[in-house]
Amino acid sequence: MRGTTSGVLSQNKGKQAEIITTLQGIQEQLGINDFSKVISHTLWQKKINTITRTIWENHIFYLQEDSNQFLYPYTKNKSKLTLTAEAAYCLRKFSEYIIQYVKQGCVSHIKPNKQNQLIIRPKDDLESFLFGSNRAKLTKLTPYLIEQQNCRCFYCKKLVTKTSDVDHFIPWKKYPRDITQNLVLSCAACNRRKSDMLTGKLHLERWMQEILPNEERSTCIANQGFISDEACSRRVAEWAYRHADMARSLAWVGRKDYSFIGFF
Ligand SMILES: [Zn+2]
Repeated sequence: MRGTTSGVLSQNKGKQAEIITTLQGIQEQLGINDFSKVISHTLWQKKINTITRTIWENHIFYLQEDSNQFLYPYTKNKSKLTLTAEAAYCLRKFSEYIIQYVKQGCVSHIKPNKQNQLIIRPKDDLESFLFGSNRAKLTKLTPYLIEQQNCRCFYCKKLVTKTSDVDHFIPWKKYPRDITQNLVLSCAACNRRKSDMLTGKLHLERWMQEILPNEERSTCIANQGFISDEACSRRVAEWAYRHADMARSLAWVGRKDYSFIGFF
């Protein structure tokens, strides 16, 4: 990652995780940087047993409580793992959400680690760096949203450009889905200040009046491969605001102003 100092991101505060150390050892031993070439080497086949054992004895064991084995029964037979029927069903049905929550959990674990502070700059998109980006998919909406919003930022009404950001009105952190009603075009300043917060009352009312019921808009975005669901978007917004209100969370009002939700 580019930054004031280059280096390897730490995933924990103590010593490096055993699996990473094993992987690094293989890479150094072979002198190959491209990991796709490492896994075709015979040394990889030998080391994979070490990695498997580490996963079994740590991740697999500690993922659930010993007394509540709801994902899989923990057996001494370490050659296979059988998910319970409910776990298999839920993993498949909610995979989209689970993957996103795991990614977010990983990012929010790595970002505040002091050892990473010299490497990560405030504006770095850590999620894209770690997991690749879906932004290309969103970026293709920009020309349409520029036209639909009369070249204006949804929030501050300043002129937007071709490089302006497609923003998730209900933040991605709360609702990780690219649903048509939730996508608005924002200038970079508003996008950065809003970050993963809900907005104040005025923005919410405009979103509910102008974006949510706009079928033509939703159809156009849906035609580019996005899901459209007005009722679901409304329920998600109600849920998000109700919870944020109960939690006394701050909402972004505009510019550098924030206030308690208090109106929901
Ligand atoms: Zn703006």
